[in-house]
Amino acid sequence: MRSEQIYPDVRTFESIVTGTKEEQGYWVTLEQSYFYPESGGQPADRGTLNGIPVLDVQIKEGYVWHRLASPLFETEVQGEVDDDIRTDHAAQHTAQHVISAILQDEFQIKTVSFRTGTEESTLDLNLDTWDDTLQNRLEERLRMVIQAKLPITATEYTEEAALQLPLRKTPQVTGEIRVVQIGELDYSACGGTHLASTSELELILFTGLEKVRGNIRLAYVAKDRAFRLLTTERRALAEAARTLSAKKDQVHLVVDELKQEQVRLNRQIGQTEDIHVKTVLKQILTTDESILTVRHDQEDIRFSEKLVKALAEAGRTGFVWNETAKKLFMCSSGSIHLGQFAKTYLKQFNGRGGGSENNAQALFQTHEEAQAYIEAVKEELHT
Ligand SMILES: [Zn+2]
Repeated sequence: MRSEQIYPDVRTFESIVTGTKEEQGYWVTLEQSYFYPESGGQPADRGTLNGIPVLDVQIKEGYVWHRLASPLFETEVQGEVDDDIRTDHAAQHTAQHVISAILQDEFQIKTVSFRTGTEESTLDLNLDTWDDTLQNRLEERLRMVIQAKLPITATEYTEEAALQLPLRKTPQVTGEIRVVQIGELDYSACGGTHLASTSELELILFTGLEKVRGNIRLAYVAKDRAFRLLTTERRALAEAARTLSAKKDQVHLVVDELKQEQVRLNRQIGQTEDIHVKTVLKQILTTDESILTVRHDQEDIRFSEKLVKALAEAGRTGFVWNETAKKLFMCSSGSIHLGQFAKTYLKQFNGRGGGSENNAQALFQTHEEAQAYIEAVKEELHT
């Protein structure tokens, strides 16, 4: 069976098993199959053979192989092609034809590759930048094409006859060529599955835009996937609006305000912490101990970090343990290389981290391990 031999209307059929093999799954070939095998950027059909789920369909050495969820023992089979999945794949693929045709004919933008994904599908465009004007015009044209209910047909032509048609790309196959025509919008040599009319696309939504290897990659969803996405996003927006006590179209403004407020509060917290650090440092420095050890049970990690920094600036050697983060901050006035010591000994205490000559940080599983490590550093300092 040829890969482009597709039967758009057949969903149930009977056939005979002609081959089986076990190779990372149970594979069978049939006398005749109506399953669409993965090809040309379009995923394979799903369905069942005698009730056994078909997990994959691939062309190998000219044969259509069906991968089954469990072994098939009968010779005669009843095949069922999953209509929802076939229609969904056809919709995403047809949308690609339509988007590429509009972009090429009206904006002279070429599609370099495409892929139908399980969630969203993508088109890579030979283009550097994308803007809202282009996006709006494309969306407007897509709505017009969907409303125009352009018929979509697939016809086999001889090579000679096919080359007389305004094909979008020179076909890669020779002999009989299957040409998919979408009204007067698109003539493409294509072996994929398609809807019967552009109106069946119903809705196309763009879901992403990124730059990949110098091209613009557009992500989209069509038909049922687009409506499902709308439902999910509408629910999420409604939830966000309820949480923020805002109108749905005001959510972004409220979020902006909250972000600014957060920046202001963080700044205020930072200032308060700085004052607190000075007070604490003053208190610590009144003790006679040459090596200072501080334990923070509740304090924010940022505060512990600031305190050790202040200790270092005061030219002292000290340890600040933050219990919540299980992190030890260390500073030394120079009689020990903290970074090198950590590199050599941290592992013995189940710690991980590192640092420079005068500053180091390490994470431990428990305070006891951190304490043992502190004792080891102290010992090294006294020797
Ligand atoms: Zn196609």
